Amino acid sequence: VSTPAGQSARSADVLVIGAGVIGLAIAWRAAQLGLSVLIADGDPGRGASHAAAGMLTPVTEATYAEKELFRLGSQSLDSYPGFAAELTELTGRPTGFRQDGTLQVGYDPGDMAVLEELRALQEAFGRPSARLSARECRAAEPMLGPSVHGGLLTEGDGSVDPRLLAGALLAAAQAAGAELVRQYAAELTVTPAGGSRVTGAVLADGAAVAAGQVVLASGWRAGQIAGLPAHAVPPVRPVKGQILRLRASQDTAGGLPPGLLARTVRGVVRGSTVYLVPRLGGELVIGATQEELGADTRVTAGGVWELLRDARALVPGITELELTETAAGLRPGTPDNAPLIGPSSLAGLVLATGHFRSGVLLAPVTAMIVAGYLASGQLAPIGQPFSAQRFGSSAGVAGQAAHRGQGEHDGQELLR
Ligand SMILES: Cc1cc2nc3c(=O)[nH]c(=O)nc-3n(C[C@H](O)[C@H](O)[C@H](O)COP(=O)(O)OP(=O)(O)OC[C@H]3O[C@@H](n4cnc5c(N)ncnc54)[C@H](O)[C@@H]3O)c2cc1C
Repeated sequence: VSTPAGQSARSADVLVIGAGVIGLAIAWRAAQLGLSVLIADGDPGRGASHAAAGMLTPVTEATYAEKELFRLGSQSLDSYPGFAAELTELTGRPTGFRQDGTLQVGYDPGDMAVLEELRALQEAFGRPSARLSARECRAAEPMLGPSVHGGLLTEGDGSVDPRLLAGALLAAAQAAGAELVRQYAAELTVTPAGGSRVTGAVLADGAAVAAGQVVLASGWRAGQIAGLPAHAVPPVRPVKGQILRLRASQDTAGGLPPGLLARTVRGVVRGSTVYLVPRLGGELVIGATQEELGADTRVTAGGVWELLRDARALVPGITELELTETAAGLRPGTPDNAPLIGPSSLAGLVLATGHFRSGVLLAPVTAMIVAGYLASGQLAPIGQPFSAQRFGSSAGVAGQAAHRGQGEHDGQELLR
């Protein structure tokens, strides 16, 4: 194949477009299955995966309408200990994986009603949590403030550091034979022109890549790549999230321990939600806003203030920590909050996007499903409810409008 820039063409069994945690996990697993894999990304690992807190909490991310999504998250969580251990064993790199549960707390009596609803949901889904009194919450987390009314402890939940995870996934994918090209994909190659099959892509530098199958794992931008026929455009949109990183240092006042919290603490503070995720090295991640503002990554004073206000209500000692980073990331949202996984309506094109608030949690199971499909042509049963074609051909615009119209206060969302 000759290319616009006259460069020599490359070829692979699989071209993965996008090197976030989803694309990297797929590339790794596909290479392990013996496929030759090329990954293209102009800025690998710097999308939503770079911003993410890394909570692994399948129930709190599900609602009654999302039982299948809970099942997917639950299977992914169950596979995380082995997934993280295998990555570290193969690459010598840590992932920050820990499984010390989530404590969800309520700030006032009204917030406790939300927690009770969540507890019923967890029970219905078969991942029960234990009710804790205010005193028991403080025994579990001594840094909690005096206003905490009570909580729920979910033992099996965990967390991972998504930045470490992305580094380990890239190293593992490369060790398994995958190759990273630091270029964006500019346009899909569809044959015959305007036709029905993807045969590769042209990269931003003009180089052509020929591939038997192409995986579109470019997060919220998955619908924007040139060459995608209208019927195959995935209905993904950016959903902004602002998030903070704090750190306890030797000089931290008030005698706060570097670990500050023993586990992830999520809370409802007068109806608004916040979470605090401790990392092994002393970092504390506080998140996150959820804003429908398109591709806007500005960090605002209001966003930072709300997060600090609510986090301080739960854990007053955070004001002594150093504020080391403020950031905003764009989650790949879909009309039903569930990912798009599997073959698209365009032959040769496989989608792996739309993981919204749970892409870090869902990376292992998504990689298993997509790599299995790439190697065998069969979509595992657990992946079938998330078919990339479930919205039909003109889903994009209509589906997004419908979702926006619902608003965020429809009573369905718990602790998001
Ligand atoms: C504030 C915040 C907190 C979050 N917290 C959690 C959490 O606690 N737990 C959890 O499970 N999830 C969380 N998420 C969600 C999670 O981050 C996402 O679901 C996940 O990162 C999606 O991964 P991805 O690989 O699909 O996308 P991304 O990480 O966005 O990666 C997409 C990649 O595609 C590349 N790309 C784009 N266009 C092209 C192109 N044309 N060619 C080549 N490459 C391209 C980009 O450069 C990028 O590297 C959070 C998200 C945010 C924003």
